[in-house]
Amino acid sequence: MRKHIVVLAIVALLFSMVQIPVLAGKSQTNTGHTGSPFDKKITERFESERSMEHISYLSEDIGPRVAGTNQEKEAASYIEQELQRYGYEVSKQVFDIANRLQGQLNTSTEESEFAIRIATGSSSTTEEGTFGYVYHSGKGEPSGFPDEIDGNIALIERGDFSFWEKVNNATEAGASGVIIYDNTDSLVPPTPSLGGNSASIPVVAITKEDGESLLEKMESEEVTATIKISEITNQTSQNIIAVKEPKGKPANDHDIVYVTAHYDSVPYAPGANDNASGTSVVLELARIMKGYATDKEVRFVFVGAEEIGLVGSRYYVSQLSNDELDRSLANFNLDMVGTNWEEATALFVNVVDGAPNLVWQSTSDAAQRLGNDSIVLFERGASDHVAFYEAGIDAANFIRREPVTASLEPWYHTPFDTIDKISQDRIQEAGELIGSAIYDVVRKETPKGKRNQGVRMNEGDYLLNEAVYVE
Ligand SMILES: [Zn+2]
Repeated sequence: MRKHIVVLAIVALLFSMVQIPVLAGKSQTNTGHTGSPFDKKITERFESERSMEHISYLSEDIGPRVAGTNQEKEAASYIEQELQRYGYEVSKQVFDIANRLQGQLNTSTEESEFAIRIATGSSSTTEEGTFGYVYHSGKGEPSGFPDEIDGNIALIERGDFSFWEKVNNATEAGASGVIIYDNTDSLVPPTPSLGGNSASIPVVAITKEDGESLLEKMESEEVTATIKISEITNQTSQNIIAVKEPKGKPANDHDIVYVTAHYDSVPYAPGANDNASGTSVVLELARIMKGYATDKEVRFVFVGAEEIGLVGSRYYVSQLSNDELDRSLANFNLDMVGTNWEEATALFVNVVDGAPNLVWQSTSDAAQRLGNDSIVLFERGASDHVAFYEAGIDAANFIRREPVTASLEPWYHTPFDTIDKISQDRIQEAGELIGSAIYDVVRKETPKGKRNQGVRMNEGDYLLNEAVYVE
């Protein structure tokens, strides 16, 4: 074993000594390491232009892709058609999702329709909506409501006490609806939670800026508003799956590696980075790897309904048989790998328990071969790798963050998550690095091309990162 390591280390050293000019458009962190001949089957064929086309279609042509909507289904069809074009047989797995509230707020001011979030626990309205005059009601304390509030709409500032208390007080005062405006500047309205309670009146939230502009109007004119909220039932979402079978192994006797990315988005967000970026990289990897000889099965799984609670990935894993689970080796999950936010210099490899596993190890091995020094091992869930981890599968999520505070880009989950904030270089970098790691795990071993996974980094190599980045 030890001898093996030494031999491979020397081979790796020889590779690293060959200086090849860096091609334009290749990853920024390429330091002259060009990887193994196997890596080159990924790095020289990964075309980030193709990924950018996917991001453009998903985030611009379709736009926001909220779970259960036609837009989410349209994105699923696009992914399905692309995979079929690459030669895959594609399967679609449909599953139920929770009922969803949808609504709008119109006012008599010239802004007319506002961006809103509906409180979790809000009531719905009739089709015509709830109409009334808007009255400033302070922070929603019992003394804050004017006499005229009866049958009308209370405009309430966020803060000091809970959303539920505000709503409860408004209901007691006779209000027919509540608009809560934020008390800090934010690009999007807050989503009020009523703490598990159900309101008997509709409750929506708007930004501080919109709230203050309404207040200003109300000083010189009477303002009316209509709140419409409807509950959408019988919603479904779907996972799209393409399987690359291994070559020359009996059908039921091989390991399985899952490469996943969710394609849904939050409301109002075109989701260019979250997560057309990951989707686009996985599509491109599926295209490249179609014809390659592997000794493992690779399943490319495009996941729906991630943003409403990891629903698609949990459903997918729940449908795996015990035999499939036994053969499940690893999950590489890509979620937000393309931001051009300057501070996001690190590619985090998020592992639920923070411990190095096969996904981290194969990625750090690939990073060494490619001379990529941007990866960080980090302890975090909050994406589709969680379901795989909970099923006992080595899983990690790849995501770009600022390395010291682990912050995401400021326009995360806002209408400003658009394609002009995607870095094609970082898409290329993600494709080359993660693709090389995946291919090294799944490719056929040849006498000359033993898998590199026998070479382990020194513990200190990753602990160096790990020690610094604890949340
Ligand atoms: Zn996401």
